[in-house]
Amino acid sequence: MKALVKAKSEIGLVLSEVDKPSIGPKDVLIKVKTTSICGTDLHIWNWDNWAQSAIKTPMTIGHEFMGVVDQIGSDVKGLNVGDRVSVESHIAGTRSRNAKAGKLHLDPDTVNLGVDRDGAFAEYVSVPETNVVPLPDSVGDELGAILDPFGNAVHATLSFDLVGEDVLITGAGPIGIMSAAIAQHIGARRVLLTDINNERLALAQKVCNVETVNPTEQSISDKMSAMGLKEGFDVGLEMSGSELALKEMVENMIMGGKVALLGLPSNEISLDLSKVIFKALNIKAIYGREIFETWYKGLALLESGLDIKNIITHNFEYSDFEKAFALLNDGKAGKVVLHWS
Ligand code: NAD
Ligand code: ZN
Repeated sequence: MKALVKAKSEIGLVLSEVDKPSIGPKDVLIKVKTTSICGTDLHIWNWDNWAQSAIKTPMTIGHEFMGVVDQIGSDVKGLNVGDRVSVESHIAGTRSRNAKAGKLHLDPDTVNLGVDRDGAFAEYVSVPETNVVPLPDSVGDELGAILDPFGNAVHATLSFDLVGEDVLITGAGPIGIMSAAIAQHIGARRVLLTDINNERLALAQKVCNVETVNPTEQSISDKMSAMGLKEGFDVGLEMSGSELALKEMVENMIMGGKVALLGLPSNEISLDLSKVIFKALNIKAIYGREIFETWYKGLALLESGLDIKNIITHNFEYSDFEKAFALLNDGKAGKVVLHWS
């Protein structure tokens, strides 16, 4: 079968012929239909320090996808050949205290599809049955490819009660934009989304009708006053990984405000903790999705009319992967979907 492989220690990926994966009794073989490219995949393409330490070559990469069940292991129950499915890419262990308590998203032995084991940028992928999520017909194949990052947005955005609250979201990447759409959909009062890239703010306007600001052009506090907010934002979602954005967020929160941190800084950053303490902020770090509550809530949000489809800006055949990665490396796209069949 065809697969996009990090074949050796160098920049890029190779479209290779590899063996179709075999499955064990508790596994499911999925015929991949659509995949989407994550920031993680860009790190692997660009072969940065993190990627060099995380990936053992050769590795088929990719973890955001949907497809159709092609084969099921002898012990698998409740799934049938032909089912449309997506997959939770974090494969939790079973031994840790958290795993035993059912907190699978907090299991330290988690293995990541497309990073630690062969992933989904391929015609077929094998995954444990426990990670398979059946899709309702209302979630189409393109949308099905981006449920993993959508899940990051759902997990972060539902971390705190947003109903009637004023929400600041820093970073209008795909996850920040989807979070803004979710916050608006579930009843936040005001939502302000920031980015230093105006193209990203323009994309946000195609997905949701929230307030936006480029903090290099107007300060967040000026924008906040213009929006009629006096004491600061009730909830903050940091989705850029930028030190400056985090500092600006702390400055513009209400006392006792709640902050979810999802953006990954690429280096160690500094933060004046006394400001956090004197504001009595409640900070929560977000990693991955809550397995499987986030999937349940995310699909429910989509079925209740949340519309995020415009976050997908480009579609390509898998053989055009080089064009897709170039677009993303130039910051010229939202989510990019590759089609495999
Ligand atoms: P992205 O890189 O596409 O988006 C980040 C955005 O932040 C960009 O549009 C960038 O212009 C903007 N930005 C940079 N500096 C800024 C500033 N000072 N103020 C406001 N915006 C600024 O990323 P994404 O795919 O949307 O993911 C968002 C972040 O979440 C990334 O840092 C990613 O690494 C991280 N992430 C975390 C998890 C997790 O489990 N915690 C999962 C997926 C992604
Ligand atoms: Zn991802």
